Amino acid sequence: MPFPEVTISQRGADRVSSGHVWIYRADVLEAGEAGPGDVVRLQDRRRHFWGQALYSSQSQIALRLLTRDERPFDRAFLAERIATAASLRRQVAGGAQAYRLVSAEGDLLPSLIIDRYGPCFVIQTLTQGMDRLKPQIVEILQQAFSPRSTLERNDVAVRGLEGLPELKGTLAGESISEVEAEENGLRFIFDLMGGQKTGGFLDQRENRLAARQYARGRALDCFSYTGGFALHLATQCDSVLGIDSSPEALSLARRNQQLNGMANLEWVEANCFDFLKAADLEKQRFDTIVLDPPAFARQKSKLEAARRGYKELNLRALKMLNPGGFLITCSCSHHVSEADFLEIIAGAALDARRTATVVERRTQSRDHPILLTVPETHYLKCLILRVI
Ligand code: SAH
Repeated sequence: MPFPEVTISQRGADRVSSGHVWIYRADVLEAGEAGPGDVVRLQDRRRHFWGQALYSSQSQIALRLLTRDERPFDRAFLAERIATAASLRRQVAGGAQAYRLVSAEGDLLPSLIIDRYGPCFVIQTLTQGMDRLKPQIVEILQQAFSPRSTLERNDVAVRGLEGLPELKGTLAGESISEVEAEENGLRFIFDLMGGQKTGGFLDQRENRLAARQYARGRALDCFSYTGGFALHLATQCDSVLGIDSSPEALSLARRNQQLNGMANLEWVEANCFDFLKAADLEKQRFDTIVLDPPAFARQKSKLEAARRGYKELNLRALKMLNPGGFLITCSCSHHVSEADFLEIIAGAALDARRTATVVERRTQSRDHPILLTVPETHYLKCLILRVI
């Protein structure tokens, strides 16, 4: 069966020319026979071919470009894209047991996430088109990696924009929820079925390693989740305090601590804003602080509130650092650019009456590729600052 054709406006074609992979509904002139989730051929009014894309009948992002090529996007094409993604991981995820195998747009597989935790694979198919390819994706993983278990964590709200239900469960192999995997020489338990996201925040793997380089003295890990940063810091520091508002996350953090036989960690269940405010009033001091909050600006409309949130956290943290201390501060809101983030932190430092140098400007781990022409794929900013 030939792929249905969708006609896009000049502005839509310009988007494709500019290297972006999303085309909005307003730029669809004629969707013809295209049904929800179809792979379609893009043409303009003059019937010039622009590429092949996944079509959504519901989302404001009506089309996600798969390829500019004429070659039909079939199962073999999909398998090749996954293999290409895997080959990059062999270079950049080296010895890691837990890493992102496929990072959606960053791997030219829009809206598909595949995270690998040792022998288990967790997938998210976030659009109608990718969701339809789910059985093929599971098969391809089966053939390429023989996983012990493949499961889906499609229990995410964005699927609602596509008219898709929220689902989670095992798709192939054993029903496993917890799995142990090493990261930078430390052991971690991941709760694939019950944890946040797909079980872990794999995008911080390299930043946790970087943070370890500077860690010393008394350390604080805010938004600790299951202790990713905290355990890395604990290998270098006298003591580490991990804070999170989720009791489930902290109970895994405690288990991770035990698993690694560490004694110098403590955990507090609290809202980090409240904790930092109280700790600042008590004039507590630290030598190393990590701030890794959830995305404050998921929509552009939340940008101002997000700025205030980042500023408050960073102001308190900078005030509480001893001279020579390090702040590892992150933002995973793609609406907040690195320049914005630097400006916010500079404002926080001025208000906190602290002078700081930027020791490193970092981003998401390399298994979360940034597509040069799609700024949305550069979402994580991680600054390492030293108070002088
Ligand atoms: N640093 C972690 C990932 C953090 S994800 C790692 O390296 O793995 C963000 C975490 O912030 C989640 O665990 C979530 O439970 C927690 N969280 C969200 N809002 C919070 C708040 N206001 N106070 C404390 N924790 C919060």
